[in-house]
Amino acid sequence: MTGPARRPSPRSLVRRELATSDRFRTANDIYLTLAEQRHRASLSTVYRTLTALADSELAETVYLPAAGTAYRLRPREAAGPYLVCVRCGTAAPVPTAHLAPWFRSTAARQGFTEVEARIEIWGRCKACRQGLPTGLNDNDSQF
Ligand SMILES: [Zn+2]
Repeated sequence: MTGPARRPSPRSLVRRELATSDRFRTANDIYLTLAEQRHRASLSTVYRTLTALADSELAETVYLPAAGTAYRLRPREAAGPYLVCVRCGTAAPVPTAHLAPWFRSTAARQGFTEVEARIEIWGRCKACRQGLPTGLNDNDSQF
């Protein structure tokens, strides 16, 4: 007689699924992927897990206008901000060092100090624009 098979916790399923790709993915996408694989993880558990990963800086986030917050595990060498594809979540780093003086001078002119900025840039990647394979399971947007 054997005991019940040990199932991974919903949180570990979310973490594992997030690790399968370096694309930014929404909670809904993770939830649907897990459901397709017949794993049990509620959408609220997926949200809570992703939020906890982001809060502990194990995941990084971008905001996409049509999809909301998207997540991916933080790479060893974080290179954000990113240019993110609104269809497939592919991310390309954007060099921003040359913008820092502009931020500082703009803020100083208005009397602001302790200024921080977050840059979000999104669009369609070349593969999506050309209808090339992106690694997504289907032809639909993940968002
Ligand atoms: Zn794309």
